[in-house]
Formats: sequence, structure tokens, C-alpha cells
Amino acid sequence: MSAVLPPGLDAAGFAAAMRAFAGVVGSEYALVTEADLIPYHDAYGFDSLDNHHPGGAVAPADVPELQAVLRIANERGVPLWPISRGKNYGYGGAAPRMSGSVVLDLGRMRRIIEVDAVHGVALVEPGVSFFDLHEHLQRENIPFWASVPGNSLGSVLGNALEYGLGYGPTGDRANNLAGLEVVLPNGELIRTGTGAMAGSSCWNLFPYSYGPSWDRMFMQSNFGVVTKAGIWLYPEPEELLTLDIELPNETDIGWLIEALAPLRMQGVLQGRIYASNFMRVVMGSGRRSEWASDNRAIPDERHPEIMEEFGLGWWGIGLNFYGAPALNLARAKVVKDVFARYTTQPFRTSIWQRGDPRPNSPAHGVPISFPLRLGNWVSPNGGHLGFSPVLPPDRAAVEQQISRSRELFRQHDFDFYGAVTLGERHVNVVNMLAYDRGDADMTRRAEALFRALMADAKSRGYGEYRSHLSFMDDVAATYDFNGGSMHRLNEWMKDAIDPNGILAPGKQGIWPRRFREARA
Ligand code: ADP
Repeated sequence: MSAVLPPGLDAAGFAAAMRAFAGVVGSEYALVTEADLIPYHDAYGFDSLDNHHPGGAVAPADVPELQAVLRIANERGVPLWPISRGKNYGYGGAAPRMSGSVVLDLGRMRRIIEVDAVHGVALVEPGVSFFDLHEHLQRENIPFWASVPGNSLGSVLGNALEYGLGYGPTGDRANNLAGLEVVLPNGELIRTGTGAMAGSSCWNLFPYSYGPSWDRMFMQSNFGVVTKAGIWLYPEPEELLTLDIELPNETDIGWLIEALAPLRMQGVLQGRIYASNFMRVVMGSGRRSEWASDNRAIPDERHPEIMEEFGLGWWGIGLNFYGAPALNLARAKVVKDVFARYTTQPFRTSIWQRGDPRPNSPAHGVPISFPLRLGNWVSPNGGHLGFSPVLPPDRAAVEQQISRSRELFRQHDFDFYGAVTLGERHVNVVNMLAYDRGDADMTRRAEALFRALMADAKSRGYGEYRSHLSFMDDVAATYDFNGGSMHRLNEWMKDAIDPNGILAPGKQGIWPRRFREARA
């Protein structure tokens, strides 16, 4: 039996609930032993496993089984924590926010229900990984590419619900999701958007609704379990032209954003616009022991030598242009002309043409998982945390954020991996903290660094767009306009839609009444 019970249940009550789940899904899919629950721990956890210890796990095979599981959970007061594939590394993996929650593993619901090969939409279930979708498109010769992220082991649907960002023109996943099927906490099945019409022919084509659009309400929330989603794909381009450039100075990030932001707004740029510092590559190399003999940061003085060895600048960026060669050429020229005002660094140009073998590169829609090596940077028993504030796409704001982050990393003695993704009218800055889970001093420093970064960002009006389980309450508290009125709306909504408080208590700081009052 699991070491941790859900709050409010005694051992006998919990065992009875797990037996009832097993009656629905089969005993091999209702798990409670410590050994069976290991995959549901946060593999990258920096604090005690007890903080996010699953009480059990249950894996329904389809929507009727899921509805039966929800009914039992409501009757018996069992908190459930839905996951799609549970590969949300850096943010908590498969583990629940509240210890004792039963992980609702949707990985068995893994069908690619259909791909509309004319309009470029895949209708997928939660368990479909980026690898699954890519392989399906290849096997069926469907002339569309899926946007994939650096960790393609995760699910297409779960990643989109978390506002995940991937490569390619459809990489802003939340904006390339149209039409959800959701089971509400009370077991009711709904379809959002025009899917609310029985026999709708545009469910996954039109992103809005007649009346309010509810799709966003089910993203980063605990208001429902998403069981299907329409994902937009990108038509296989005639050509993909890539311009890579390395920039030597830490401060180059400022002008880079100044140069790129207007081009992005004008529609000159396509795909994911993602600049990262040299540490992204270096931290994936597995070679830390060549420059460090302890769990302290590699000294700054050694950076030039490392950059030279890897052939990298302080910042690197690859810009990808997808489509007709004439358009790509014209777009690339506009970019080069703008860059010429700021730098003499050369671009490296590469061209992929339809019919060429696809390189093992996410920009070409090919799933990868090797960036996960980052987790082992400091130790084989390693992990990482992502700190990801949202900023305006302004030169000074980004330059200063990087400089302040760097200083805080220095103070807490961590290697600095920074990356900036340029959105339509914002940037996401991702700061990666990699640590040795077995080094108590280092994990304490990681937590202190995270808190320092969070306080610094808040003091400038920058909020995080996503966070690890352990910081969900803290990040939610930074959204404090009018005494936290948005948070009150979330919790009011939570109590209305999930009166028994069974679904993902505490996700994004949203607690149902029964746990909220117990915590107060
Ligand atoms: P991945 O699919 O990348 O492995 P997860 O399955 O860990 O990611 O999902 C990340 C988070 O998104 C989960 O912790 C959960 O809060 C939420 N989530 C994932 N799938 C669903 C779903 N089908 N319905 C509701 N929330 C979900």
C-alpha cells in the first residue's frame, strides 16, 4: 500500500476507493504499491518527495472509464491529478501538487483519432506523444509537419494545455489548438467551440465559439479533464531556409530583441524565435567534470575557452523560413539587412528542400529527446527547474533581466543557462537551474535562487507563465491586482464546477474549498 494517503481518507476508505477504481479499469491499472508509484514521482524533484507523493494511480482506457473513475472519486472524496504522459520535467513531471492525490494517468488513451490531411489538423487523445504523431504522419504520407519540442517524449495535448512552446510555425501550441473535448469533474462530457453542435464540421478548424470560448479555461487549470484536442499542423514546406548566427557578447541579446521584435510583428519571421546562451549546448554535452570539480558554478573566466571549444558565441539563434524559395530568400534578405545595422558576425545558411532526408532537428518537425541530457549536467542523479517570466519585447528590459538573472545565478553559485523566445508582443525568458538532487546544499541553493528570481521579477511587474508544483502557490500570489481578485474568481469557479474538490487540488494555486479551508 502507498505510504501516503489522500487527506481526509483513512487507510480502509482509501483501499476501498482503489478497489472501486480497479473494478472499472482492471487491477493492473489501479496502482498503489510504492514500486508501482515510482514512475509518478517527480524525477527531477529538488525538495522532499513527500511534498508531492502520489497516493496511487489509476489509468482509464477511454471516456466511459474516466467518467466512472470521476464518479467514484466524487462519491469517496478522492483527489485526482490528471496527467497525459507525465513528462513535464522541470515543472513536476508526473507528480501531483498535493501529496496523496491519485494520479489520473491518461497515457492509455493514445489514439490519433483522425488527421485532416487537407486542412492540416490532427485530433488526438492525451496519451499521444510527439513521437507518435510524427511517426503517424510519416507512415501515412501526410504532407504536414507537427511542431515538436526539445523533449518530444511528452504529449502533444498536455504540452499545449500548459502553454508549451515548440519549434516550427505552429510552435505557439496554445494558439494552434482548436476544439477540446472535456470531461467535467461531475463526469459530464462537453465539446468546446463549434464542437458544441452535434455533427459539427468545423470543430477543429474554427478556434472560437458561438458565445463565450471556454477552451482557455481548461488550460493550466483544474476545471476539467481534456480527452481530445484538435492540433493544427504545418503544411510541409517546399523549402526550409535556416540562418544561424552566433553573437559574442552577453549584451547582444538587447539589440537582438530590438531587431527581431518589429520583424516578428510584420510577419517577416516564422517559426520559433529562440535565442539561447552557449550553456544550452554545453550543459547537454555531459562534460562538466572537464571544467568543474565540485557542485559550484564553472568560473566565468573559463567561459571564453568553453565557447571556443564548442564554436559558440555567448548567444546563438537559428531563424527558420518555411515555404516557397523566393519568399524565403526575400525574408532572409530583410533579416540580413536589419542585422547589418548591429553586427558584422556572419550568418551560416542551410537549405532543406522537399524530397531531401529530414535532418534530426526539431525545426524540421522531427521529434528529439537528447536535450534531456541537461538534467544530468551536475550529476547522474540530477534535475532542473525552469524559471520563466514574461517580459515586454524591449531591448532594455531583456538586457537587464539577463544581467540581473546572471547576477543572482552568480550569488547562488549556479551555471547560467538562459534562453529567450520571442512571441508576437512579448518574450518568454527561460532560466534553467540544474542541480544534483543528492546534494542538500545545492538543492537548498536552487530553491533560494528560484525565490530570489521570482521576487526580482515581481518587483518589475513580470509574472511567470508556468511553474514547478512547489512554487504554484507563490507564483499565483504574485498575480495580486485588486487583492488577488483573479485568484478569487478562479477559486469561485473551482467551487462551482468541482464542488467536491476532487480534480487537481492546488494546481496553479487554485484550491477547492475543502482543502482551502483546511490550509487556512
Ligand atoms: P506531458 O504530456 O508533456 O508529459 P503532463 O502529462 O505532465 O505533460 O501534463 C502537464 C500538466 O498538464 C499536468 O501536470 C496537468 O496539470 C495538466 N494536464 C495534462 N494533461 C491533462 C489533461 N488531459 N486534462 C487536464 N489537465 C491535463
